[in-house]
Amino acid sequence: MMVVKVGGAEGNDIDNVLIDLAPRRDYVLVHGGSNEVDRLAEALGRPTRYITSPSGVVSRYTDKETMEVFTMALAGKMNTAIVARLQSLGAPAIGLSGVDGGLIRGHRKEAVRCVDNGRVLLVKDDHSGTVDEVNAGLVQLLFDAGYVPVICPPGVTPRGELINTDADRVAALVAAGLKAETLVLFTNVPGLLREPSDPSTLIPEVPRERLSYFMNFAYGRMKKKLIAAQEALDGGVKRVVIASSQPADPVERALEGMGTVIA
Ligand code: ADP
Repeated sequence: MMVVKVGGAEGNDIDNVLIDLAPRRDYVLVHGGSNEVDRLAEALGRPTRYITSPSGVVSRYTDKETMEVFTMALAGKMNTAIVARLQSLGAPAIGLSGVDGGLIRGHRKEAVRCVDNGRVLLVKDDHSGTVDEVNAGLVQLLFDAGYVPVICPPGVTPRGELINTDADRVAALVAAGLKAETLVLFTNVPGLLREPSDPSTLIPEVPRERLSYFMNFAYGRMKKKLIAAQEALDGGVKRVVIASSQPADPVERALEGMGTVIA
């Protein structure tokens, strides 16, 4: 079994991945939706702000209103659309946000440290959260009954607060919880690049013991994918492939190792 995560940033071809996945029954799908959140936020007059942690990881600043937009865009719009599309392609898809069945349980970060003009600030009203537990049993139950689970953030706290959790890391924890063989992270670039703006500088293989060295090549959100890869491997997943969602047969290509293979 594998867990496939499709990105939601500009330049991702989600439909291309869905068409390739549709005939298969060996996967669980996780998706993000950053572009859709930005679009909806803009339309509602609440444009997105990003914050950068002292270690250089970029996250969406998620105040209470942004959390609502995040939920509308991911669970409301994208998840429903992906499930409908998979069904039209013959796949028995079922949509689950991290709230359904307590699928993604976590806690809110009390304060988030961010860097602004060289100064470190504490942001206290952020609804970003850390995942503590994934209800893999529920996903397994649906999978064993022949359904194709389609999972997205938000997650939920024991007090019922919704939390913005990173979809790459959710995918990693789901993959670990399901003891999946492979985690495929589809994105808008061919994989981890030595030079992020140059697609010809693909790093084809990263031995897992050298992941922290290769972390130096990743900026912004690619860093989160490598952290997710580490979490998946630590959780028993055999290999992680970061691959482009754009070429024809993206799933087949990724499984053949076209992209960055971390194992
Ligand atoms: P998605 O929504 O597809 O998950 P993200 O925007 O979260 O995509 O992450 C992919 C982005 O990471 C790329 O578009 C690129 O701008 C950025 N990035 C930073 N460093 C690298 C790198 N070394 N190699 C490839 N991409 C990188």
